[in-house]
Amino acid sequence: MISVEEARERILAFFERLPPVRVPLVEALGQVIAEDVVAPFDIPPLDNTAMDGYAVRAVDTTGASEVAPRSLRVTADLAAGYILDTPVGPGEAVRIMTGAPIPPGADSVVPFEETDEMLREPGQAAIRTGAVQILKAAHPGANLRLRAEDVSRGQTVIAAGRVVRPSEIGVLASVGLADVSVHRRPVVAILSTGDEITRPGDPLTPGHIYDANAHGIAAMVRKCGATPRLLGIARDTVDDLTAKIREGLDADMLVTSAGVSRGDFDVVKDVLAREGSIDFWTVCMRPGKPLAFGALNGPDGRRVPHLGLPGNPVSSMVSFELFGRPAIFKMLGRTDWPRPVVRATTRERIVNVDPRRFYGRCIVSSGEDGHFYASLTGPQGSGILTSMSAANALTIIPETVEVVEVGSEIDVMMLDWDHAP
Ligand code: AMP
Ligand code: MG
Repeated sequence: MISVEEARERILAFFERLPPVRVPLVEALGQVIAEDVVAPFDIPPLDNTAMDGYAVRAVDTTGASEVAPRSLRVTADLAAGYILDTPVGPGEAVRIMTGAPIPPGADSVVPFEETDEMLREPGQAAIRTGAVQILKAAHPGANLRLRAEDVSRGQTVIAAGRVVRPSEIGVLASVGLADVSVHRRPVVAILSTGDEITRPGDPLTPGHIYDANAHGIAAMVRKCGATPRLLGIARDTVDDLTAKIREGLDADMLVTSAGVSRGDFDVVKDVLAREGSIDFWTVCMRPGKPLAFGALNGPDGRRVPHLGLPGNPVSSMVSFELFGRPAIFKMLGRTDWPRPVVRATTRERIVNVDPRRFYGRCIVSSGEDGHFYASLTGPQGSGILTSMSAANALTIIPETVEVVEVGSEIDVMMLDWDHAP
């Protein structure tokens, strides 16, 4: 029996991050920047106003108050997107909208709220009446956004290796990019195996069950940022298995489910062995214990990584979580695959029935005292998929621990922080 860590290390050693490609900005979400992105200009490119108001020379507002307003002559009205070259002279003001560049001569902006702007009747705009009353003194620099206060020309705004989130996409767009170089998304081919497995949507005949694995795994693949490709269901015959496996050999990874445990009908193992070099492992975890990993012989001499998951749907998902997800992250160039592990107080007694690490499906919530609490989501049989659906975390009960009493602290691995029970 090998540990989860050993299995994961052996698997990760096989993978490299994929080569860079240029993709339109929004498609890069969750991918990793392949080259430093350098700003070609300053942001903002010019000093501009942070408020709707009047651009003034601060000195002209000295001493202004509601009881002693200062009257300034309004010479222009300036919207964002336009430049005014005429300087603001002594005793003058320019009515200016947020984002508009500050005209020469002005050194501050008095917001509308600090002028008589709000008191004006329609038709009495300052540009018509020719004057504005300033009700509060401005400091030099007030309400200005200075050139380059966000980004200076030549600055690296996003370094290679950064994961693209919506905020990175915004930054990339702000430096004028329409596309960006990121490490390619892996394509993951997914194959279910077993004579009893039926495609959802098809009629179910006695003794058969629907294929839960392929679709659940495909969704996990997509959530990791890779592209799933469903190969369907292979019957437990040499010909069908061989043909379906070969259909997946142009992918970056092939994931199969079922047929890898000890008692299994040997055809899956035979075919995998013939198509490449696959190891069958017993991993010290529950659910999930049987796992296959190795390389299949691709048509062009390429060695295609193959992850053989156990058949039981919960085992299959938990195994993919622990081994498939990190592999995809590595291909994406991401190192942030470890899930957050937090300490939580267990609301129930947990029995670890055999000396394997127990990844129990649980729901973790924060109590009013600010601590996390964990409750198992029901029966923990490895075929009981609804208790996976009810969970937002997995317990990590060490292989050496037999019983955890109510109220003890345990480690839990968060899968979905935002999943409400
Ligand atoms: P096996 O690994 O082939 O021994 O399968 C273990 C258990 O998982 C059996 O009860 C299978 O029927 C079940 N199983 C295998 N593949 C799937 C699947 N794609 N969807 C749901 N259950 C499955
Ligand atoms: Mg089977």
